[in-house]
Amino acid sequence: MSAPTFRFAPSPNGRLHLGHAYSALLNARLAARWSGRLLLRIEDIDPGRSRPDLVAALGDDLTWLGLRFDGPARRQSEHMAVYRANLDGLAARGLAYPCFCSRAEVGAAAGAAAGDGAIPRDPDGAPLYPGTCRHLSHGAIAGRLARSEPHTWRLAMDRALATAPGPHGFTAFDPDGAARTVAADPARWGDTVIARRDVPTSYHLAVVTDDAAQGITHVVRGADLLAATDLHVLLQALLGVGSPRYHHHALLLDAAGAKLAKSRGSQSLADLRAQGIAPEVLRARLGFA
Ligand code: GLU
Repeated sequence: MSAPTFRFAPSPNGRLHLGHAYSALLNARLAARWSGRLLLRIEDIDPGRSRPDLVAALGDDLTWLGLRFDGPARRQSEHMAVYRANLDGLAARGLAYPCFCSRAEVGAAAGAAAGDGAIPRDPDGAPLYPGTCRHLSHGAIAGRLARSEPHTWRLAMDRALATAPGPHGFTAFDPDGAARTVAADPARWGDTVIARRDVPTSYHLAVVTDDAAQGITHVVRGADLLAATDLHVLLQALLGVGSPRYHHHALLLDAAGAKLAKSRGSQSLADLRAQGIAPEVLRARLGFA
C-alpha cells in the first residue's frame, strides 16, 4: 500500500483564517503520526476571485505557522486540460449535458415545478435543477454550442446512478485511526453543475480529479464539505478512480456561533501575526502544542 498521503487544499479567495490553520495543522499532525506525506493544493479554478497576491500570501502564512509540504504545490488553474478531459469523457458517455439556463431561470423553473410545495434543494441550499436542458434535442444543443451560448455542464444524475448504481458510501476515519463505513446518497445533489460557465470544471469535478491525480489516501477537511462527499464518491465511481478515506472535522466558530469567514470579518492569520502573536501560541490555542 502507498504511504498515507494527505492534502491541504485552500482556495486563494481571501487571507487564511484560524479555521484554515486548524485544518492544515490537523492534516500535518496526522501525516506525521502515520509517517505519511502532506501535499499542498491551491484551489484556484475561479478566475474572478483567485488572486496571485493571495496565493503568495497563503504560502507565507503557512510557512509562518511552521508547516512544510512535500513537493511543489499543485495549482488547479494549471490543470484545466485534465478537468476538460474528464468532463468530455462523462459527456461522451451521456453522463453530463450542457445547461443554458441562467440562475434566475433555474430558480423560476424549480418554483414552477414545485407548484404550491416547497422547492426541493440540494445540500448547499440551491434549488434542485428541474431538468429543463436535459430534454433539449441533439440538434438544439449542437446549434447553441456552435453559437457559443454561455452554458454550464450538469451531471445527468439518473444516468449516473444507472451507470454506477451503488450502494454508495465511503470510509470515515477518526484521528485515533478508528474507521467506519458511511452511506452516501448522491441523488440529493440532483443534476448538479460539474463545470461552470467560465472554466471546464466545478469544485466537485476538480477535487475528485486532483485527489486521484495526487494519490491522496486521506482527506481531512471541514464538516461543511461532508455532504459534498456523497457526490464525490459517485464521481469517483464514474471516473474509475478509488476513494480516499475521509475525516470531516468540526468547524471553528466565531463568538456569535457563525462559521469563520473573511466576509464576516473573521481575523486572518495575517491580522493575528500583525498583532504580534507568535505561531507557537496560535498552534497551542488550536490544540497543537
Ligand atoms: N478549497 C476548499 C476550501 O478552501 C477545500 C476543498 C477540500 O478540502 O476538499 O474550502
